[in-house]
Amino acid sequence: MGNLDEKTFETTIAHCTKCGAKALEVFTYIDRQISVMLGERNDDGRWTHDGEKFIDGVYRIKCIACSHDQYASHDCPRCHRAGGLADVVGKPSRLAVPKRCPSCKATELTLTGFAPATVRTGEAHKPSPRPTALFGDPGFHVAHIMCDGCDYVALAEGCPLCAGPGPLRTRPG
Ligand SMILES: [Zn+2]
Ligand SMILES: [Zn+2]
Ligand SMILES: [Zn+2]
Repeated sequence: MGNLDEKTFETTIAHCTKCGAKALEVFTYIDRQISVMLGERNDDGRWTHDGEKFIDGVYRIKCIACSHDQYASHDCPRCHRAGGLADVVGKPSRLAVPKRCPSCKATELTLTGFAPATVRTGEAHKPSPRPTALFGDPGFHVAHIMCDGCDYVALAEGCPLCAGPGPLRTRPG
């Protein structure tokens, strides 16, 4: 279970408890798949999370009008290590991505990682989360590497976000 469950999340985003505004900015860490060629990003990738994982990764909810933090956690969004967020936001990814598959030398690899994302609430249409870092940018963390040409895989050790020893809790969804 995340720090926020669905019910608490919905209550928290209803409105700012300080100024009453309905437009809030939600900061989360969610799963994104990106394909790379020779160690460079081929595309911007795509989200692979579901709604429960979106809520599970939330670490901050801020009022856009008055900047009040409606919710703020300093724990790692993945393993909940206390203070772990400081090792995640704006920090480089730790799992090295090779230019070529070490096994079959293919140039294309598929990465799954955690991208920081923001979304605004209180708008007429439900907007989709916007990634604020992609593979290669600080703050994006590679969790899993898969070769497109063979069965080579590599996994981040410990927590893929903060590199803490874990244990990794089960995520919802
Ligand atoms: Zn406010
Ligand atoms: Zn962690
Ligand atoms: Zn391969």
